[in-house]
Amino acid sequence: MSIVRTRFAPSPTGFMHVGGVRTALFAWLLARQAGPDGTFILRIEDTDKVREVEGSINQIEDSLRWLGITWDEGIDQGGPHAPYKQSERLEIYHEWARRLVAEGRAYADPYTPAQLEAFREEAKAAKRPFLYRDHRPENPPEWDGSQPLRFKSDPKPYQWTDAVMGNLSTGPEAIDDFILIKSDGYPTYNFCHIVDDAIMGVTHVLRSQEFISSTPKFLNLYEALNIDRPTLATLPYVMAIDGKKKLGKRDGAKDILEYANDGYLPEAMANFLATLGWNDGTEQEVFTTSELIEKFSLSRVQKSPARFDERRLLWLNGQHIRMLSINDLYERAHPFWTSAAAQGSESHKKEVLALVQDRLKTLADLPVITSYFFEDPTPDWAMVNDTKQFKKYSRQDLVELLKQAKTALQADETFSEESLQATLNLLLEQTGEKPGVLFSIIRLGVSWAPFSPALNETLALIGKDRVLRRIDQAVAMSTSS
Ligand code: GLU
Repeated sequence: MSIVRTRFAPSPTGFMHVGGVRTALFAWLLARQAGPDGTFILRIEDTDKVREVEGSINQIEDSLRWLGITWDEGIDQGGPHAPYKQSERLEIYHEWARRLVAEGRAYADPYTPAQLEAFREEAKAAKRPFLYRDHRPENPPEWDGSQPLRFKSDPKPYQWTDAVMGNLSTGPEAIDDFILIKSDGYPTYNFCHIVDDAIMGVTHVLRSQEFISSTPKFLNLYEALNIDRPTLATLPYVMAIDGKKKLGKRDGAKDILEYANDGYLPEAMANFLATLGWNDGTEQEVFTTSELIEKFSLSRVQKSPARFDERRLLWLNGQHIRMLSINDLYERAHPFWTSAAAQGSESHKKEVLALVQDRLKTLADLPVITSYFFEDPTPDWAMVNDTKQFKKYSRQDLVELLKQAKTALQADETFSEESLQATLNLLLEQTGEKPGVLFSIIRLGVSWAPFSPALNETLALIGKDRVLRRIDQAVAMSTSS
């Protein structure tokens, strides 16, 4: 297999949202797929000091770590091309810039902002696009670092292949003399990412669609620098669910770490992100992370924008929760228990988890779904009034059913799942009721929760004494609420 070196190169300008993390994931999958021949680099692109947001670097790292996206070279552990933070590499960019100056491929921009504005106005009045290169100075001043340094471009048409978007082409008008180094001494993204990708031996550049219109400029600069260009792969936008606009905060573009607090599993999130714009060509929707590593390919990333569907994420999360071993589920459940549950024994908690595992959509559902296994619920007969099945039943009818149930359950000596199944079936026959009525009132009378696992299993796990006590409480409270 050939060497694969990919990088994720975020700017520390805020929290990590789905689009950004998906780029990281795809680049990571590609590197991991190459096994020992693959390297994933985390590079921090912090050359725009105005847009920088404090704390973002930690957030970026925490988000990647949560998802299990590990990097081999980066700001903490270093690597052969350290430092991996662009603000600490300024000398390198200046050296490359000086080389371009020496070769006549870069020059100091002599114009004031007002002069540039006048050129722009002129172009607008003449109804032609403004191109800086139309105003290239004949005798530019020597570059002393106080002026912006511009690339002396070589305008020409380009044809290239993007690993996702396919064959693309542009005319010479797409090429202009862009800024390499700003007057504050910091390089532009357009310049320094190319220098770094070259030095760091990046083989595949994966990035979002917003950069596609700049690609011809990059191609021109690769040539000027005499660099072999890496494989370019442009990832489609992530759109809101309606498919009409780019995903914004109001459509759920929240900090990826919020999903951790909301009870999502990182592997479900990785599955969701990977399938935002990628599929393996089959109907398969649920992928483990190792399957993603094995099956991911750039050629199966779609060109059209992907839609962010949070309901799909929720469904996938439920699927991944089901795939966990009880021990694993137990470990992950810790932050989500109610305080009463947290004090329960490990073995009891594991029994409860085994029972509710298939019903959990997120770990944050645990309190609602499981609290009645750990503490007596407060009877709430209003829930009975709201239940469709009981429409034709008076409160007294239901209380009668509960009393009959108590007698039958009391007589069940073993109170195991099997014996309870038999007891409940017998009770169905004796009362002549439908399961939808009889089992629902017992379920409510014992759990006061909107749903529960199979009734016999639920009762067995709550235990005989508590079940009988709760039925008594339910009956007692039937007249007071
Ligand atoms: N620093 C750029 C950003 O955060 C990275 C683009 C790239 O991957 O080259 O959008």
